[in-house]
Amino acid sequence: MAASGGAWEAVIGLEIHAQLATESKIFCGAPTSFGDAPNLNIDPVTLGLPGALPVLNRRAVELAIRLGLAVGSRIDRASRFARKHYFYPDLPKGYQISQFEEPICVGGQITCDVDGVEKTFGLTRIHLEEDAGKNVHDPKTGRSYIDLNRAGTPLVEIVGEPVLRSPADAVAYMKAVHEIVVALGVSDGNMEQGNFRCDANVSVRRPGAPFGTRTEIKNVNSFRFVGRALEYEIARQIAVLEEGGAVVQETRGWDDDAGVTRSQRGKEEAHDYRYFPDPDLMVVHVDEALIDAIRAELPELPRARRLRFEHSYGLSAYDADVLTQSPARASYFEAVAGGVKDPKLAANWIMGELLATLNREGKDLEASPVPAAALAELIALIEGGTISSKMAKDCFSAMVADGVAPAAWVKQHGGQITDEGAIQAAVEAVLDQSPAQVAEFLSGKEKVIGYLVGQVMRQTRGKANPQQVNAVLRASLEARR
Ligand code: ADP
Ligand code: MG
Repeated sequence: MAASGGAWEAVIGLEIHAQLATESKIFCGAPTSFGDAPNLNIDPVTLGLPGALPVLNRRAVELAIRLGLAVGSRIDRASRFARKHYFYPDLPKGYQISQFEEPICVGGQITCDVDGVEKTFGLTRIHLEEDAGKNVHDPKTGRSYIDLNRAGTPLVEIVGEPVLRSPADAVAYMKAVHEIVVALGVSDGNMEQGNFRCDANVSVRRPGAPFGTRTEIKNVNSFRFVGRALEYEIARQIAVLEEGGAVVQETRGWDDDAGVTRSQRGKEEAHDYRYFPDPDLMVVHVDEALIDAIRAELPELPRARRLRFEHSYGLSAYDADVLTQSPARASYFEAVAGGVKDPKLAANWIMGELLATLNREGKDLEASPVPAAALAELIALIEGGTISSKMAKDCFSAMVADGVAPAAWVKQHGGQITDEGAIQAAVEAVLDQSPAQVAEFLSGKEKVIGYLVGQVMRQTRGKANPQQVNAVLRASLEARR
């Protein structure tokens, strides 16, 4: 009988693969560099030649621990590598070295915002494994080639619990994991190069019912693709079930051009892989000293930094987001904010003038023509009333062009005119020269005040304090009624 109508709920769990940022492969000294001539970065271990023995890359272990500690995993003090067998041309040994029963990191969680709602999603495990090589199909000749440069590069597989309930959850979660591995320097996260990709597992059920049969969408290397692939796959499974059919457990691929998932192969069960501990590799013992040392070096994570910027500097979520786009930008902001009264003003200057200038000049913040201390000095001059915002913009242009210090600029151009008497005199002079505009104002057309302010600023070469000019002008106009 076909189930009809009523709500369906999606159940999603991602397995994310991130390539670790090591110089050499996980079990040998061959380099991990990308884009080299095919089969350049190979050796007997990569090729799986008989007698070649793997030696574990210490850095890969440290990076996995770094990630595990950052996301609250338990670090297993004794983890183990296993052989996962399957036959594919890009896997020379006929097995992949992975971790199965004893992964290095167990549990943990990822917190992220989904459409403005904070959610925390549990992790099952994070384990170490080697990547496979690449099959390259040449449509012109119809031949297939094998490039083993990538074979043996170190990966962490981050296995999430099946706790995501929508494509939006999945995209936000994947972005959060990406942001974390990049911020930690655990992976470069380059998605075009396939250094960060996921297998998306998805099933549907009636809310509260046991999990349904899942399909697994393999090797998705874009946030947008994950969202689209899951939308499609959820709708497909619901349609199958509503027509009275059954979802087949299988591996599917996402074809973004066609906008569909396609069946690739039946899903293996764990026993199909004939896992067993790899006798060539020792148990990985991790001691407390190593864990403590790695923990001591953990940086603040991007999300924590965003929230801290909102709370301790009173910034909007948007500003905090823009200012934490990179560690360099965040520390630049903190350096400026530390030297001024109003952090919001610091944020405005960085997000406005400074970023616009860097953009125009095609420069990174690291190469900013205006150091943080100089910008702070400029903003402090505005806050102290020495210069107006308008003058500050001129000063900033000079700082960019000639590297002039704000104090030197003020010395040369003079500060802002705040002397009541001087402003009054300039106002009276302008009013005397503008009888028509005065009459207009007095007849109720108050907009003309903008013109009069402009004239006074002109008279004072832009140096009069604009708020004072405004107030004095109004008072003098009223006096002429
Ligand atoms: P494997 O895919 O290697 O067999 P697991 O069975 O441990 O490994 O599951 C892998 C992923 O599938 C996990 O991220 C998990 O959250 C997710 N998953 C498991 N069961 C379901 C289900 N019924 N629906 C959706 N996702 C699921
Ligand atoms: Mg899987």
